Amino acid sequence: MEYQAKELFAKHGVPVTLGVVVDQPEDAAEAAEKLGGVVVVKAQVKAGGRGKAGGVKLAKSPEEAVEHARAILGMEIKGLTVHRVLVAPAAQIEDEYYFSFLLDRSNRSYLCIASVEGGVEIEEVARTNPDAVKKIPVDPGTGVDQQKAAEIVDGVGFPDALRDQAIAFVQTLWETFVEEDATLTEVNPLARLAGDRLEALDGKMTLDANADFRHEDHAKYVDIDATDPLEAKAREKGLNYVKLDGQVGIIGNGAGLVMSTLDVVAYAGEKHGGVKPANFLDIGGGANAQVMADGLDVILGDSQVKAVLVNVFGGITACDEVANGIVGALDILGDEATKPLVVRLDGNNVDEGRRILSEANHPLVTMVETMDGAADKVAELANA
Ligand code: GDP
Ligand code: MN
Repeated sequence: MEYQAKELFAKHGVPVTLGVVVDQPEDAAEAAEKLGGVVVVKAQVKAGGRGKAGGVKLAKSPEEAVEHARAILGMEIKGLTVHRVLVAPAAQIEDEYYFSFLLDRSNRSYLCIASVEGGVEIEEVARTNPDAVKKIPVDPGTGVDQQKAAEIVDGVGFPDALRDQAIAFVQTLWETFVEEDATLTEVNPLARLAGDRLEALDGKMTLDANADFRHEDHAKYVDIDATDPLEAKAREKGLNYVKLDGQVGIIGNGAGLVMSTLDVVAYAGEKHGGVKPANFLDIGGGANAQVMADGLDVILGDSQVKAVLVNVFGGITACDEVANGIVGALDILGDEATKPLVVRLDGNNVDEGRRILSEANHPLVTMVETMDGAADKVAELANA
């Protein structure tokens, strides 16, 4: 969110004014008074386009700040409910620029995208006048030093009066981007204020969760209000789970196999009332009973799920271990397991795995030998 990005900007010396975050309309009055009365009240949600949606409003007095806060709190912007507003001193904007660094996966590089025609119409500018939006690759090996920052500033065409400030801004923003392990940092508008002062009036950062282990302070940026409860539960259990909208729960081992399983189930679902996958869940290599039980527990907690497909290709984890995992999981879950389970096993120790499941003869479990057959069966059960 903007106020969090600005916190990180401030930490690294990017010019910014922090303001005060409130979640009750009345609290905007004190905040506004403290900031000199004339303020801007801004919706704090993880979405852009807040200005156009009516989530950014100027207030000339503390009373007006309260009115705006009341209007903005509870508002929905791009499907997200506003729980907090930022009250910040109103800036006198002379000009608005757009500036960002991002990870450019396809080129295995970083990219700076910037324009002197920033502001809320930046998408429109990119469409109608793409030459006004500059894209400058940044070599991950060398990054952005003083010389590179100057090259960027001159390439984007910042006014001469701002050149030195812009160079310093680009360097500190790069530092923020690298040191916080971000995959995106965006400033729009980077504003030219009265007296030729550059300041980041808005900010957005996407942090790389793979680097969470070296940023204890990033935990506080997790948006609990917006996290799906099942995804939160899965994360607690260390599972790789993504909730989707369908009716067929999916468990598999290996991201590639799970992705293909989603496709095959969606395809089979077309013949069975249009049922679709309910989730992505990769249990990875260690498919023991506890991992299987945790996975099933999360999936069965999804009230939309009507049937579950377990699709495992035995490799390092052999099919007999997976079969024992399924039997153990059903034991652990007991009465909580109520939905039909289609199991397809193949690969390492498949015969032993199938024997274990046959012997257990659990009333909820149907074994199917092929992936297509299993997808068809589970779609049929989910539609029944
Ligand atoms: P976004 O629409 O979600 O990107 O939200 P922004 O924070 O970028 O705000 C949208 C627009 O509101 C900006 O481009 C500015 O034109 C305007 N704005 C934001 N803060 C201020 C301010 O302090 N003073 C003035 N005059 N305008 C502001
Ligand atoms: Mn903006």
